Amino acid sequence: MTQETLALHHGYDKQNFGAMSVPIYQTTAYDFETADCAADRFALRELGPIYTRLNNPTTDVLEARIAAVESGEAGIATASGQAAIFYAIANLAEVGDNIIVANKIYGGATTLLTHTLKRFGITAKVFNSDSADDLEALIDDKTKAIFFETLSNPQIAIPNIEKIVEIAKKYNIISVADNTVATPILLQPLTLGVDVVVHSASKYISGQGSAIGGLIVAAKELNAKLIGNPRYPQFNEPDESYHGLVYATLPLPLFTLRIRLSLIRDIGATISPFNSWLLIQGLETLSIRIKEHSRNAYKVAKFLKSHPKVKNVSYPALESDPQHDKALKYFKDGQTSGLFNFEVESLEFAKHILNTTKLFSVVVNIGDSKSIITHPASTTHQQVPVAELEKIGVKAGLIRLSIGLENADDLIEDLKIALG
Ligand SMILES: *Cc1c(COP(=O)(O)O)cnc(C)c1O
Repeated sequence: MTQETLALHHGYDKQNFGAMSVPIYQTTAYDFETADCAADRFALRELGPIYTRLNNPTTDVLEARIAAVESGEAGIATASGQAAIFYAIANLAEVGDNIIVANKIYGGATTLLTHTLKRFGITAKVFNSDSADDLEALIDDKTKAIFFETLSNPQIAIPNIEKIVEIAKKYNIISVADNTVATPILLQPLTLGVDVVVHSASKYISGQGSAIGGLIVAAKELNAKLIGNPRYPQFNEPDESYHGLVYATLPLPLFTLRIRLSLIRDIGATISPFNSWLLIQGLETLSIRIKEHSRNAYKVAKFLKSHPKVKNVSYPALESDPQHDKALKYFKDGQTSGLFNFEVESLEFAKHILNTTKLFSVVVNIGDSKSIITHPASTTHQQVPVAELEKIGVKAGLIRLSIGLENADDLIEDLKIALG
């Protein structure tokens, strides 16, 4: 079945009075009816809801649906995109281990992976994701994950996915791709050989900037890569925190199962059922929206490219863009989402543009149906040292646009006035 159809129907069988809209199970806990049933659920002899920190019937639908839309085996929802990244990595690495992280990623992912995790004894090595030429040399026995974004926020860089996947396969290391900006409609990392996908569902999946949430999806072949793999003893040896359970012995999707039974159980950054419901609504129309976001962004990028006060536009869907070949290689119909950057002469002029546009809101979110303008150097990347900023492609005059669903002609007119 195609993604458009799966996004509308998968994972829900209208069991409650035929309700067309997935019901919101706004409940903390569930009546087991008998003591044996309770014991069976805790022992995994029977799969069913236990407590909403662990699972919830509304969230189940969201998890099954995103897994289907990403062509994956199983999904798990989390409180935010940041929580999704944390769980995915914490499921693979522990004190003494290292991970290899793309140089061009979201600011919050950078601080989490290179600073906060270091305080838990997990170190990050950084690779050049544009080429991935330096990736292989960074791998050692303690390397547990390779992390990158399929379309990086805010640089709009497309990594050398083919090479990353090839190296991850060669060394039996799990690759984790953040697919927030590309969305599964335009690019499906798991079909390209990636092992795990994470999302900030707060962006295009929500679509209207109304809920924070995260998602993790495991590839269909992931169990085979984990079972017996000496890099991942946590899946192959008894888990003392779960009465000696050996995950590898279970006929279930192990990656998401271990996150649920161990990490979500203990850390508890769980999505609320109401937010799951909002994200289900968003997922239903994602395929229509992301194509329109892309069409609009293409028109606005083309206008800016021709403007004398614009130094540079980075939008891979443009035929003249240095990344255009990669866009055609990896993205459906070469459409590269609603996010792009342009650069003006100075920080002052960038601020003037932010202050003058009327249709664009000065917001650090992306993926809203309303257009957004951001100055990364002074906001999302403020904590990154100035010397580092240039290296990761965030210049002082860089402006990020998240193009919404307004008429592109109105957006162009607004920018024309702001550019003067
Ligand atoms: C926003 C974002 C995140 C963080 O997600 P939250 O839902 O805000 O926690 C992670 N990765 C990317 C690419 C993002 O844009």
